[in-house]
Amino acid sequence: MECEICGKEIRYRPAKIIVEGTELNVCNECREYGVEDVSTSVQHGVTRVVRKDRRPQQSKPIVFTEELVEGFNEIIKKERQKRGWSQEELAKRIQEKESLIRKIENAEMTPEPDVIEKLERIFDIKLREKVQEVKLSPQKKLVPTLGDVVVIKKKKK
Ligand SMILES: [Zn+2]
Repeated sequence: MECEICGKEIRYRPAKIIVEGTELNVCNECREYGVEDVSTSVQHGVTRVVRKDRRPQQSKPIVFTEELVEGFNEIIKKERQKRGWSQEELAKRIQEKESLIRKIENAEMTPEPDVIEKLERIFDIKLREKVQEVKLSPQKKLVPTLGDVVVIKKKKK
């Protein structure tokens, strides 16, 4: 028997799944495409159909976000001192409050993106780095439709 999704030979018992109301005999690898498992068992001459709900698998799309570099406060402080500016002077140059500069340098707060930009520009440095972030999207429906299954089949051949 061949898997009705990928076409691979099924050595053991095929898994029965339902994709958009259609029952398919599939291999173990493809059973996750289905909404439900349908397993039949014969007990005392009565065929029982057991349906199990399958949770859709969560995908982990990779998102790139910009994050402040480690020790950004030290970098800012160093760049400021290199130029011989006081916190007040730096604050004036980027049109922010002195207290904000102090808090940033003491790592008491994370500067807003527009402040970071101004600091990057005035010091001609990079305070952000691209990091890979794995986000979970629990709300997204991940069970493929029959259309998706056809695409999967094409790809695997
Ligand atoms: Zn398969």
